[in-house]
Amino acid sequence: MIPTIHSDVVVIGGGPAGLAAAIAAKENGADRVMILERDRELGGILQQCIHTGFGLQIFKEELTGPEYASRFIERAMNIGVQSRTNTMVLGVRKDRTVLAVNPGDGLVRYIAGAVVLAMGCRERTRGALAIPGTRPAGIFTAGTVQRYVNMEGYMPGRKIVILGSGDVGMIMARRLTLEGAEVKAVIEIYPYPGGLTRNVVQCLEDFGIPLLLSHTVTKIEGRERVSSITISRVDDDLKPVPGTEEVIECDTLLLSVGLIPENELSRELGIEIDPRTGGPVVTNEMETSIEGIFACGNAVHVNDLVDNVTREGIVAGSSAAIYARKGASAGRRLLQIVPGEGVRYVVPQRITLIHDGDAAMTGDSGAARLSLRVARSMISARINLVSQGRSIPVARKRRARPSEMIDLPLRPDLLREIATEKSVFLTAEEGV
Ligand SMILES: Cc1cc2nc3c(=O)[nH]c(=O)nc-3n(C[C@H](O)[C@H](O)[C@H](O)COP(=O)(O)OP(=O)(O)OC[C@H]3O[C@@H](n4cnc5c(N)ncnc54)[C@H](O)[C@@H]3O)c2cc1C
Repeated sequence: MIPTIHSDVVVIGGGPAGLAAAIAAKENGADRVMILERDRELGGILQQCIHTGFGLQIFKEELTGPEYASRFIERAMNIGVQSRTNTMVLGVRKDRTVLAVNPGDGLVRYIAGAVVLAMGCRERTRGALAIPGTRPAGIFTAGTVQRYVNMEGYMPGRKIVILGSGDVGMIMARRLTLEGAEVKAVIEIYPYPGGLTRNVVQCLEDFGIPLLLSHTVTKIEGRERVSSITISRVDDDLKPVPGTEEVIECDTLLLSVGLIPENELSRELGIEIDPRTGGPVVTNEMETSIEGIFACGNAVHVNDLVDNVTREGIVAGSSAAIYARKGASAGRRLLQIVPGEGVRYVVPQRITLIHDGDAAMTGDSGAARLSLRVARSMISARINLVSQGRSIPVARKRRARPSEMIDLPLRPDLLREIATEKSVFLTAEEGV
């Protein structure tokens, strides 16, 4: 017989999203809250991020990843959240049964009033890019190297090229330089950097590390170990331009070419996945398409800032606690928010409306919030809600870039204006 544990809320993943969700669930009346984490400790990816820059919005302080995580771990433990580390969740069922395994307890079944999915994301590998060349040692993903250098104490190499200028790649360029490696260049296929401007300045410019935009790696060479890579310029269609090849001697290639929300459990469960984000479609309560199953953080969409992940966790956790207590509220209706012209994606994709037009409120703010990314770089952008040919301006941005997520609180009066619709488009226009 598989041992069975009853919980009000089970949270899968003990990163910042899962921790915030567990704390919020407990603070909103869930007695038995359990975090299941496959790693040896709680904190998620933050434990390997020893640079500062975490919590600027939530704590108005520059914290390292472990410092930020420890505040939440302490809070969770103090208020009686339970956790099991070294515990891998193998499956979740629609009836909110969770099956998990660890070396001490073996297989355990958790029966939950509500479940929060907070599994984070994982990195794209060389296989996903299909870079031609030999298959030597010395090719790593940037997050793996971050774990080696910051947690396990290993150096991956000495002469390093980084492909991808997202935040992870740029932070690792600085980190490896500080550890004594020579970072020869950061290569970026798009004409703009993939990460935050503050990281371009603090991680590359301050250390004299070249950033080559509109370039990509077109060949890897080496027998046992990487000996060189070839880079080429790309055209407007991101295709390598023949004749622009340049060879860079190096012993290591770091790939920092994107993160993919970790959703094997969600897919198996039959949750609706948004092909634009790679994560579950959620409501403003962070409820997925399956009742009583909530999701938050990087499992839903890849966030730039941990503060946003924490905010989503708080919404998911408090909604899960309310669901575990009361079940779904009757008479609710969903308004779809569809990404339109100029918008790459928007989360949440649905807003819950109750009682004929009054928008459902989440958190303390009294308003629903949208997180969106634009489809291309824009100067002076206007974000609109478009319903039945009517365009309602909701925000203006002096500059908008796909790499910087836009946080858009929706005022209750605005929600009331669109509350009778079934769906509205979110658009972004440049130069207005
Ligand atoms: C290299 C790097 C640098 C960053 N720098 C900054 C920064 O300077 N400032 C900032 O604000 N943000 C930064 N971020 C972003 C921030 O760290 C992430 O947004 C945040 O950690 C995401 O939180 P999460 O809880 O969704 O996911 P994670 O932190 O990834 O946590 C998910 C957890 O779920 C667990 N899990 C997954 N599947 C299972 C399963 N089946 N069973 C049990 N457990 C499971 C994982 O082990 C993991 O611990 C950075 C991110 C990275 C990768």
